[in-house]
Amino acid sequence: TKRVYLLNEGNKDMKMLLGGKGANLCEMAKLALPVPPAFIITTETCLEYFSEGTGNLPKALNYEAELKTLEDDTGKTFGDPKNPLLVSVRSGAPASMPGMMDTVLNLGLNDEIVQGIIDTTGNERFAYDTYRRFLNMYSDVVMDMDKEPFEEVLDRIKARKGVKLDLEMDAEDWKEVVGEFKKLNPNVPTDPREQLRGAVLAVFRSWNNDRAIRYRSYNGIPDEWGTAVSVQAMAYGNMNDGCGTGVAFSRNPSTGENKFFGEFLPNAAGEDVVAGIRTPQPLEEMAEKWPEVYSELFSYQEKLEKYYGDMQDIEFTVENGRLYMLQCRNGKRTAKAAVKIAVDMVKEGTLTETDALLRIPANQMDFFLHPTLDPKAKKTLIGEGLPASPGAATGKIVFTPDDAEAMANVGEDVILVRKETTPEDIHGMKSAQGVLTALGGMTSHAAVVARGMGRCCVSGCTAAEVNFSAKTLTLGDVVLKEHDVITIDGSTGEVYLGAVDRRSATEDVDFQTVLGWADSMRKLKVFTNADTPEQAATARGLGAQGVGLCRSEHMFFEPERISAMRAMIVSESKEERLEHLATLSKFQRKDIEEILTEMDGLPVTIRLLDPPLHEFLPHSEDEMKALADTVGKPLSVVKDRVAQLQEVNPMLGFRGCRLSVVYPEITEMQAKAVAAGAAMCKKAGRNPKAEIMVPVVSTARELRLIVPRIQKAVAEELEEAGVKVEIPIGTMMELPRACQTADDIVATEGVEFMSFGTNDLTQSVWGFSRDDAIKFIGRYSEQGLLDFDPFARVDEKGVGGLIRTALDKARAQQPDTKVGICGEHGGEPDSVQFFHSLDFDYVSCSPFRVPIARIAAGQAAA
Ligand code: ADP
Ligand code: MG
Ligand code: MG
Repeated sequence: TKRVYLLNEGNKDMKMLLGGKGANLCEMAKLALPVPPAFIITTETCLEYFSEGTGNLPKALNYEAELKTLEDDTGKTFGDPKNPLLVSVRSGAPASMPGMMDTVLNLGLNDEIVQGIIDTTGNERFAYDTYRRFLNMYSDVVMDMDKEPFEEVLDRIKARKGVKLDLEMDAEDWKEVVGEFKKLNPNVPTDPREQLRGAVLAVFRSWNNDRAIRYRSYNGIPDEWGTAVSVQAMAYGNMNDGCGTGVAFSRNPSTGENKFFGEFLPNAAGEDVVAGIRTPQPLEEMAEKWPEVYSELFSYQEKLEKYYGDMQDIEFTVENGRLYMLQCRNGKRTAKAAVKIAVDMVKEGTLTETDALLRIPANQMDFFLHPTLDPKAKKTLIGEGLPASPGAATGKIVFTPDDAEAMANVGEDVILVRKETTPEDIHGMKSAQGVLTALGGMTSHAAVVARGMGRCCVSGCTAAEVNFSAKTLTLGDVVLKEHDVITIDGSTGEVYLGAVDRRSATEDVDFQTVLGWADSMRKLKVFTNADTPEQAATARGLGAQGVGLCRSEHMFFEPERISAMRAMIVSESKEERLEHLATLSKFQRKDIEEILTEMDGLPVTIRLLDPPLHEFLPHSEDEMKALADTVGKPLSVVKDRVAQLQEVNPMLGFRGCRLSVVYPEITEMQAKAVAAGAAMCKKAGRNPKAEIMVPVVSTARELRLIVPRIQKAVAEELEEAGVKVEIPIGTMMELPRACQTADDIVATEGVEFMSFGTNDLTQSVWGFSRDDAIKFIGRYSEQGLLDFDPFARVDEKGVGGLIRTALDKARAQQPDTKVGICGEHGGEPDSVQFFHSLDFDYVSCSPFRVPIARIAAGQAAA
């Protein structure tokens, strides 16, 4: 096996073996760019190191010949005091993991060699500066010593001299620093070859440092890859004022503007730019100072960008007026830059629309839909939760929905802070600029509702102590009182003290172009989950082609409606129930007519009442009294009824179609309301396409009971209205049993479509309560039991496997059954890809995720 490669032996396609950095160094050398000579130890050798487990370099690794080539190419000799070669020992994984692993610079120094450098260059300051850098880095990276004592030495000597900058230190000062560093760590090996072995081992080990492991798990990079090690001749940016170092991007990584962009530091080493020791200068100043070097660099970045067909991130060093290229890679960029660069590159003819679309990070496209925090703004982080609903909001904190509403009515911006939210908080959530909850995950009530409203929301901020009676919010040491100002960022889950500047999102022309590409390529339709006409209108504006889920109960959360709902629930007889249902019916008909009007010509799937009834019930004594007054019954009766409806496990309780089984009159009212809404639209000359969906089905027998009742109610209502419209009926697939018996389900007379409710399906397949999983799911990820939150991204093997089974059975029975998905997964790019691969007809997601789903669906088909 070949374990060591010279630059002329590799190329850019060998990232798996040579790491991204190594492969690109080879490619730049091939393009005749000035790269300091180097050799690369393969990732396979790193794996060999781990599997041998001796703590020593693999026995079969030998780089003496390649080291000799480096010496020949540079005319210097490793370890020779008269003309020493110094090297950098650099990590580099197959996928970019910026700054996560270790690198040692200026390796090959000892007391004798430093003297040699002084003798040959006559530059004592440079020699000692380089030596102190080496001692510091070697102690830190290879010998795992604390950095602080080294920093203290520097600070002490600078303070004594009354200087702040490294640049103000002279040769004597650096010599003194070197002396002190050697006292701190007398054990740095003096043999350059031993140093090299130590550094290579340290780079191997850094593959498994905590930072790197976390970064990999977060970015889905396999632990099995290993890192390559590049050993490269040093280029010196720290010799004198004719030297320097910098980082550049072929286009602006923040805005995407097609303008060479970067920073450099004169008389400094590369690590100084990263560490932020000095404020670097814009490249424009380098253009003035060294026009020739600048134009050389400019031509290389142009060449590299063309060659790689993507925006490049470049590291370079200038040694005595000579430019050296140290690294190039596809640059990381913001959502805004990603979109602009993709569109520009298509215009320039560099990329096809398909390739450009595939470059778009669909997940980050929220950026275009919500105001975001100004990245330059000053901010104080006081807490972190889940990024439940994107956007950023600033406001005074309030603890009750009523306070939120009252404050909003007088024009105040508020953030509603709750332990968790319930349906009764809706008006408060609507009034607030944003919502912060201590409990609940990405699919908690607060998160789902907030996303539906386009309200920003941070949920599951478990460190937040919400004291409802004292009206305080405690985050660590910070105690906030009612009306104190905070800012929350629903795109990152962060919570900040006070106000933070925001930037408003705009109708971005480039973003629209990208959406256009996606639409022309995708096969999946993108629907939305919308409960109100406003949400439907928003989603339609964002490109929704229908409503895949209209939760009819959300129409009952308004204050005046909830009291009718409560009255209905506490009814003691069918007559009484019918009376209150009649009130609810009026609202429901009107709502459905409005939503069908908004979605004129597009399908609207209305789901029958789903949640456990007790969710609607009053909780406090006061609320129960009020209800007792409304329905004219003694408080004790109301209390009994509430107690009766309490459930031990409501998610698996009296909900969904079970309500239809027990109270057919509720279903009848709802079916008639749908028919009436559609009839009214039809009469007004519109084209209503209502559909009715039955939730929480576990057996086809439920459907055989309920579907005919729906058909009858619909027929009666349409007959009465004297109108003909089709109202297809379908079923939710959200319980394992329904999936296992999908053939029976689609064989049921009158069942025309099925929609996978992946939130409940995930809950029932994993047996994880979606409202409680937050308490342990974090620990699961930390210990490697979960790669991702299955409520956010579909679990392809488990939940997805069951979906596959259901589809196979259903399609064997009824090949053309219409199939959709309406969980939160409908707006998550990886999941969308999965549903595309299973030939779904549509995905349905929150209004503000519609554009993301459109892009993801386009990418899946591209
Ligand atoms: P990272 O992957 O963390 O960016 P690098 O291996 O790129 O680590 O090293 C960090 C910095 O060290 C580089 O940006 C560069 O400035 C400097 N460096 C690395 N190798 C050399 C070299 N051969 N000559 C001069 N500087 C180097
Ligand atoms: Mg680098
Ligand atoms: Mg459900």
